[in-house]
Amino acid sequence: MRILITGGAGFLGSHLCEVLVARGDSVVCVDDLSSGRLENIGHLRHENLEFIRADVSQGLDLPGPFDAVAHLASPASPPLYLKRPLETLAVGSAGTDHALRLAGRDGARFLLASTSEVYGDPAVHPQPEDYWGNVNPIGPRSVYDEAKRFAEALTMAHGRTLGTNVGIVRIFNTYGPRMSAADGRIVTNFIGQALTGQPLTVYGDGSQTRSFCYVDDLVRGLVAMIDSDQTGPINLGNPEEFTVGDFARLVIALTGSSSPVRHLPLPADDPTRRRPAIERAEALLGWRPQVPVTDGLARTIEWFQSRPAELAEATL
Ligand code: UDP
Repeated sequence: MRILITGGAGFLGSHLCEVLVARGDSVVCVDDLSSGRLENIGHLRHENLEFIRADVSQGLDLPGPFDAVAHLASPASPPLYLKRPLETLAVGSAGTDHALRLAGRDGARFLLASTSEVYGDPAVHPQPEDYWGNVNPIGPRSVYDEAKRFAEALTMAHGRTLGTNVGIVRIFNTYGPRMSAADGRIVTNFIGQALTGQPLTVYGDGSQTRSFCYVDDLVRGLVAMIDSDQTGPINLGNPEEFTVGDFARLVIALTGSSSPVRHLPLPADDPTRRRPAIERAEALLGWRPQVPVTDGLARTIEWFQSRPAELAEATL
């Protein structure tokens, strides 16, 4: 297949490019490098991968035909999307529209990378796909949450009115090699802090929960969704749930660090709990995560340990 990946130089996008190239697909990767990095795909550029530096919010007029379009482009970590609110809204709206039109033009399969953030601060736990969510539409996080909710609405409208072959996955917290140490997320902050002897910054009292999926598992789910004709939405995530406080203690234990924990204020509208219901992914895609969090974290810690410059650059 010839596949277009927007955001293909990012954390998830680059792993997706790698898996598709390895199985023989021809991949065109579009990224404006605002959070993605060329080094993430550098090793693939001599293979069947073409890189185009462009902002998908500005337009996406590429020669086809494509068999599939996977739209992953967006800032994804809270500190990054809070720093670029207008760009985040633009890529969820105009960027998604451009990607959908290109897929429609070519009769291609379209995959939207949506998010567990569409559930906001969920009143239902764990979160099934038929839960409509609890999102503050004017809070700071809304630039991401509502952009992705709009992207889902636009994707469904293209499917219903234009007959585009669309699919939506809702991605829950995912971690692994190639995350940027400076992206401000829990996994990168805690690993960076533990490895450099700094206090682990637990926001609030640390009782809020998240569930963590290793990148290889997640990307297997993305590929299964590209290859299927399911519309979804389908949750992709690992239901292994931790409080933030317990997760800090796990990272300290796995790194053998003597860092203490320091509590900082909880960011506005930080969801109190999050865990995917994955029965739909199991039934429709035959997908379930296989990598336990302790194994995935050990691999991620090893990756960061071998990149001291990456850790030194991060503002922790
Ligand atoms: N968090 C934390 N310390 C950090 C970074 C994040 O306690 O240094 C918390 C954050 O408040 C949230 C959870 O960890 O409850 C996950 O945050 P992240 O930014 O990774 O992503 P989110 O799931 O909120 O999108």
